[in-house]
Amino acid sequence: EKSERESMLIVTNYAEQFFVDQLLHTDEGKSVGLSYLHKRGLDLPTIEKFGLGYCPEKWDGLTQSALSSGYKKEYLVKTGLTIESEKGLFDRFRARVIFPIRDIAGKIIAFGGRIMTNDKKSAKYLNSPESEIYHKSRTLYGIYFAKKSIVQHNRCYLVEGYLDVISFHRKGIENTVASSGTSLTIEQIRLIRRLTPNVTIIYDGDAAGIKASLRGIDLVLEEGLNVRVVLLPDGEDPDSFSQSRSPQELSDYIAQHETDFINFKTRLLLGQAGSDPIEKARLITDIVRSISLIPDNITRSVYIRETATQMQVEESILYNEIARIRTGKN
Ligand code: ATP
Ligand code: MN
Ligand code: MN
Ligand code: MN
Repeated sequence: EKSERESMLIVTNYAEQFFVDQLLHTDEGKSVGLSYLHKRGLDLPTIEKFGLGYCPEKWDGLTQSALSSGYKKEYLVKTGLTIESEKGLFDRFRARVIFPIRDIAGKIIAFGGRIMTNDKKSAKYLNSPESEIYHKSRTLYGIYFAKKSIVQHNRCYLVEGYLDVISFHRKGIENTVASSGTSLTIEQIRLIRRLTPNVTIIYDGDAAGIKASLRGIDLVLEEGLNVRVVLLPDGEDPDSFSQSRSPQELSDYIAQHETDFINFKTRLLLGQAGSDPIEKARLITDIVRSISLIPDNITRSVYIRETATQMQVEESILYNEIARIRTGKN
């Protein structure tokens, strides 16, 4: 007797094959889905590696095909591939290109689907719902293809979206994963921590991306990992930024722009603060608060020294302030 989990994984596996087949071997899939992916700069080997697919516009293309092949409605519904309504059964991902989401062992546990138009009426991305096999907050997109490279390079690049991961992998930066569709969680950081203690955040170069980076920094520090940040030019994300660049240019940019979190905050916030002493004090307080999250005493003291030098304040003052914050917290 199969477990519920196994039965669900069999269905997601079937769906994945169905979506790939639709993308590569049907007129609709080729003219709508494949041409969209090519337009986004993806070549066939990349599309095949990541198992990208296409779900037809038809109301219940996947559902009918699965049912007539003998797959049970129950598991189509439980995996969220099929939605049951008063009007009948229909496909969740109709008329979308499909990004299969794998767990660290490579099993397909969920899907993301993107509309191919710019119409603002429907959500740009849809994801499978939470289920017995898919826990969004514990999943990192790309982890299966990235894990070996993360261990090899002893570093993990963290980006926002599906195409950011795929573009980086394609340009040879395979130690890249995304939190995709949620803001970064503690469980995701712990998953990375099993592979490396070093994280570099490369979020979108817009206000939302910067805000998410600041939040990500504190979360990563709190879990005892080392964090660096790469700031992309305004309006770029890792995918758009990679498009016109060679692997060498991309890795040069990262090498030249990767900074530790203190430099990132200093540059970001000092730009606004200028020489105003009140603003400068606020910035120091902000950095000190981040440092106070670091669990390890020695790591904390290294960052305290760096901040003292950079901001030209006494180390002892920073120590006292951090001690005060940490006492308050416990
Ligand atoms: P694209 O380049 O295809 O426009 P993107 O990845 O740059 O996509 P962003 O708007 O930067 O899209 O969002 C980053 C990530 O957040 C997406 O890859 C997706 O995982 C998730 N996301 C974005 N919009 C939605 C949405 N409406 N519903 C669910 N998840 C979303
Ligand atoms: Mn964005
Ligand atoms: Mn983006
Ligand atoms: Mn993008």
